[in-house]
Amino acid sequence: MDCLFCKIIAGDIPSAKVYEDDKVYAFRDINPMAPVHVLIVPKCHLASADEVSADNSAYVARIFEVIPEIAKAEGLANGYRVITNCGEHGCQSVKHLHFHLLGGKQLSEEMD
Ligand code: 5GP
Ligand code: ZN
Repeated sequence: MDCLFCKIIAGDIPSAKVYEDDKVYAFRDINPMAPVHVLIVPKCHLASADEVSADNSAYVARIFEVIPEIAKAEGLANGYRVITNCGEHGCQSVKHLHFHLLGGKQLSEEMD
């Protein structure tokens, strides 16, 4: 499949790995928007949050289980933000579900 993040998970495209287990891969965003900007993705191909269902939600649950571990390892004791962009209005550019973990500075109050 011609999917950038599937290729990164497979190791066909290099990435700066932050965390990995059987369901989840996390790596540093190539264009960081904050001192810490990690992308956390399921190892199964889901195009976006719109494809999450009871059949695959264990992947999303695992992502949210590991977010506190990654945040702690990255030193985000003062807090952080988790974002997923979905579809055209959400400005999603890579069509493999991913969660942005942003922190390491005071983030903006604006959500859009
Ligand atoms: P989106 O806009 O889809 O929510 O986020 C996609 C993110 O993937 C962007 O923040 C972008 O910087 C990041 N990105 C795009 N291509 C690559 C890549 O080849 N490697 C890494 N590490 N990040 C990428
Ligand atoms: Zn994919």
